[in-house]
Amino acid sequence: MEQLELLQRAVPLLLEWYRVSRRTLPWRGTHDPYKIWVSEIMLQQTRVETVKDYYLRFLQRFPTAQALAAAEEGEVLKAWEGLGYYSRARNLHRAAKIIAAEGFPATYEGVRALPGVGDYTAGAICSIAYERPCPAVDGNVLRILTRLLADDTNIDLLGTKEKFSSLLRAVYPQEAGEFCQALMELGALVCLPGGEPQCLVCPWRELCLARLRGEWERYPVRAEKRARKSEEHVVLVLRFEGEYALLKREGKGLLSGLWQFPFAERAPETYGKILKSKRAVHIFTHVEWHMTGFLVEAKEKFSQYTWASAAEIGEKYALPSAFKAFRSWLE
Ligand code: SF4
Repeated sequence: MEQLELLQRAVPLLLEWYRVSRRTLPWRGTHDPYKIWVSEIMLQQTRVETVKDYYLRFLQRFPTAQALAAAEEGEVLKAWEGLGYYSRARNLHRAAKIIAAEGFPATYEGVRALPGVGDYTAGAICSIAYERPCPAVDGNVLRILTRLLADDTNIDLLGTKEKFSSLLRAVYPQEAGEFCQALMELGALVCLPGGEPQCLVCPWRELCLARLRGEWERYPVRAEKRARKSEEHVVLVLRFEGEYALLKREGKGLLSGLWQFPFAERAPETYGKILKSKRAVHIFTHVEWHMTGFLVEAKEKFSQYTWASAAEIGEKYALPSAFKAFRSWLE
């Protein structure tokens, strides 16, 4: 069977399954492009379970693009605290200013041109908010399609997403929003990465070539992964008269513009009396931080740092989750 024919047969089965099996999620059931956009940006690199609360809180605080545009960047970053990949929050804020002035873009090209919006996100927003046949192809969608079609295309190659986008465009049903979400849902609930896909409950079990050939493990075909870089850091939680030292990360690199507990430039005991220590690891996409943290009663209020109480840190300073392990020391 040709790929297109197989996909055409798979579409109604998927929609039928989705209507019965979909999860109730806070961003479902709306056609408001602002809300869909916020949810899609949050979901780009963060798990559904984590996003739920953030999404509700974020919309409560910034219910419209106008409200978001009017906020200070620090406030937006604070609302994003713990979600990671903070460039998403900055782009959201920049884009909100454009939307507040010009309205939410009504075309795929317009949505795609917003800061922080790539092909996938633009496709998802246009499918879900506007019911347009705009495929949203990410790693999940590539996994389920390469399995369904037993397609050996290396999914890390440039052009692979476009190939599958073209295939999807040709079979997009009228219920564009449901179809887009159904593809994501199948990847999230049934055709899982690694491990065992749940073929027995999959709506495509009678069609899926990878399953019929007993070869689902082969898909998706990928290029070798580059190893992550590993870095060692000594983290100082310096306390002086109820306040803690913070440092703003400069430059354009990882976590830039956010606050952190300083990294030690010399032996921790030279800053004051060590009270506690512990190890922690934080894994970013391309780097791992292996950290040894020290809680130190500082011998002076070192002037190179910004000092803040635990309450102020909770309210005002966006402290990435990389430092979460050491936050429990704040009183
Ligand atoms: S039958 Fe199995 S391998 Fe094929 S799409 Fe469904 S869950 Fe994935």
